[in-house]
Formats: sequence, C-alpha cells, structure tokens
Amino acid sequence: MYDNDLTAVVEADRSHVWHHMVQHAGFASKDPRIIVEGRGLSVWDQNGREFTDAVSGGVWTVNVGYGRESIANAVRDQLIRMNYFAGSAGSVPGALFAERLLTKMPGMSRVYYANSGSEANEKAFKMVRQIAHKRHGGRKHKILFRERDYHGTTLGTLSACGQPERHMQYGPLTPGFVEVPHCLEYRAQWDLSGEAYGRRAADAIEEVILREGPDTVGALCLEPITAGGGVIVPPEGYWPRVQEICRKYDILLHIDEVVCGVGRTGTWFGYQNYGIEPDFVTMAKGVASGYAAISCCVTTEAVFDLFKGDAADPLDHFRDISTFGGCTAGPAAALENLRIIEDEGLLQNTLTMGDRLLGHLQALTEKHAAAGEARGKGLFCGLELVADRATRAPLDEKSVAAVVAECDRRGVILGMTNRSLPGLNNTLCLSPALTVTADQVDMISDTIDRALATVLG
Ligand code: PMP
Repeated sequence: MYDNDLTAVVEADRSHVWHHMVQHAGFASKDPRIIVEGRGLSVWDQNGREFTDAVSGGVWTVNVGYGRESIANAVRDQLIRMNYFAGSAGSVPGALFAERLLTKMPGMSRVYYANSGSEANEKAFKMVRQIAHKRHGGRKHKILFRERDYHGTTLGTLSACGQPERHMQYGPLTPGFVEVPHCLEYRAQWDLSGEAYGRRAADAIEEVILREGPDTVGALCLEPITAGGGVIVPPEGYWPRVQEICRKYDILLHIDEVVCGVGRTGTWFGYQNYGIEPDFVTMAKGVASGYAAISCCVTTEAVFDLFKGDAADPLDHFRDISTFGGCTAGPAAALENLRIIEDEGLLQNTLTMGDRLLGHLQALTEKHAAAGEARGKGLFCGLELVADRATRAPLDEKSVAAVVAECDRRGVILGMTNRSLPGLNNTLCLSPALTVTADQVDMISDTIDRALATVLG
C-alpha cells in the first residue's frame, strides 16, 4: 500500500479531473474514490481500504486479475525494444498475438488493431459501408443493432445503441442504423417460452429486414450476451435462426465480444457457446485485461478478400488508420494475457466458478422477493431486481443503487446495468476475474444476500 498521504492527490482529482459517468455535485460532500493498488481480486482506495472487485475494474475488463508482473514485464521489455510505429508497418507482438489469437477462433483470419471497443466496432461498421460501396452500389449500407445492446461511445456506435438514455442528448445521430427487438424472455414481448421464444425473437429480426428491404441491409451487430443492457442470455433457438436469417439475406454477422471475449463466459469467445460463424468479431476489454489499451476487429478471409481490390490502384484498400494501433504495448500485454488464461486453466475455472456463482444467485431469487431473475454464463452474471415479483415491475433505480452501495460498504464492488429502457436499470452485474476462488464467490454472494436484507428488508 501507498504509505504516503494522498490528500493532495484527492484534492487535485477533485479540482481537475472530469470523471466518467458521475454527477460531480456528489464530490462536494464525498471524496472522489481513487484506486491506488490492486492484487488478484483486491483493490485498495486512497484510505487504504480493501475491496473485493466483483466486476473486474468496474466494467468487465481485468480478466486475469490485478498485479500481474509477467504482463508488466512483457510490456516493459517490448517498450524498451520498440514502443511504437504506425501506418502500414507491422510489429513483432502484433504479428505474434494475431497468430495466437486466431488459433482460438476457427474460421476467422485477419486482425485489425485499434484501441477501444468503440473503435473496433467503428472499424467493422466502416468495413460494412465500404463493402456496400464496392460491391452493392452503396445500397447494402444499413446496420441493424438490437434494443438494449451497447456498442460504444462514439457518435457512430451510439447510433447503433439500443439504450436510449445513452444517446438522448447527442443527436442528430448517424443515419443508416436500424433497431431490432431484444430477446429477454423474462420481459417477454411474445407469449412463448424457451426455444420457441428464441426463434420468435430472431424472426423479429427478419421482419425488420423485410420492412427495410434486404438489399439495403449490410450487417447485423449483436452482443452474444447483452452486457450493460441487462445481462441478457439469449434463449435456445435464437442463434441458429439468427445465423440462418443472415445467410438467407446475405447479411454480414458482426458479433461484439467487447465484454464476452477472451474467456469471460468460459469459452474463448461468447459466440462459441452457440456454434455461430460470424463475419466480424470485435473485442477489447479482456484482450489485455486493462494492462494496455488494445482492441481488435477480427474478420474472415472472405471479408478481407473483398478489400483486395485492384492491385494497381493505391487507393483501393480499407482506407482507415488508428494512430495508436501502432502501440506495441497492447499486443505484448495481450500475448501474455492469453498465455496466463491458457496455462492457469482459467476457462475451466470460469465454468466451475460461474456455475457456483449462478447457483448462489438463483438461491437468492428463492429467498428475497426483490430478486427476480438470476442470469448468466461463465463469470458473467446478473441479478434482476423487481419491486413486485408477480408483475415483474422493475425495482426503482435508487433502490438498486442502494443495494450496490451497501455491498460497497461491506467491501464488495458490484456493477449495475445502464438505463437500457425507460425504468429499466435494475440488474446487478457480476463479473469477477477469471481467477476467482470458491471462497471469494461465496463471500460475494453472501454480501449481496446481506445487502438485499439490509436495504430491502
Ligand atoms: N461494446 C460493448 C458490448 C461494451 O460493453 C462496450 C463498453 N462498455 C463497448 C462496446 C465500448 O467499449 P469502449 O468503452 O472500450 O469503447
């Protein structure tokens, strides 16, 4: 722990830093939190208080846990040798990580580097648009996205955002993005269940395609499991039908693995739970577990081939660049991150501990009237809170936040979903590091149990 006094740091932060996602008025009466150190699942704040982080850095990122010296060393060695070169040149870790990553993604073939999840998604959107111009006279340019899904913070990705509160003050948005219905059976839009529900929710995508005109739709972008929009695991029957629809109308399937990617659900990628064959896979957070900023837009060779174009025309290529796509720290960290997941058997641990965590959360739904539904896959779980169990009326946001605050007071950092639809910001989010132990899982769910009892009685 830092043994020096951090008062000056806290004051510098309060005076000069514009924090993400927070109403700053609160800092007049309460110090901003500064996280100063981390080890495993533990983090310490400026006052030396230890917390167990059940959301991997607040937003599903630190998959291998804090304090990994081997990643720091890999990055250090790489930076001293060669830190950065951009443009059309490659790098040693960039080549080695791409090769290694693709061994985990049969059917995928090319890795395009960027720095954030939003940017990786923008790359895929731009590729879709360029394909529309190159091959379809500009017509197949529309990109479908799903209600409650999130794909990023830029104006392009916000235009593909199924959470109205995220974009309501940022219009006008980019044209050419069209919403399809969500697939959460707990808040059913059709009077069906299980596999039939999944097929029906996918059919709703086809209805949108037919309404828009299949010759205008270039791609469908979906999270394998919706994250911030409510931890929504699609029902059986959904994905096979989605794939079938995309093939039927020659629509490229873009899977946003920014949260689910790199082990979070117990497989390398979330889509691999469902036997889908995507055309684009985007990833960011867990790629280097937050040890460096890196994201990837991965495509098939068939997509890459569409850009080969006229070898004699110097402008006939994907006309895009990211300055910091040339940083070598990202792929160096990502390579070591992947090795850790493999050598420490973290996919298996994710499956075992994920089952344990989901089991505990399901038990809470039997014990607490407010615990409506527990959902999840691997170490990616949500607990939807309700005001009324019978009607499933959502618990109000203030009460959900009070449960999160009570867990925090008891030393466990949890997340909660965004306002995915009006009045729907009522799901607790859990995504501990993939190294989590049985004792830690038990302690985290025990804390939620106590917090629910304290706050909601
Ligand atoms: N896609 C998904 C599914 C996300 O959850 C996020 C971020 N929470 C993003 C994309 C955007 O990633 P970033 O914040 O790195 O731009």
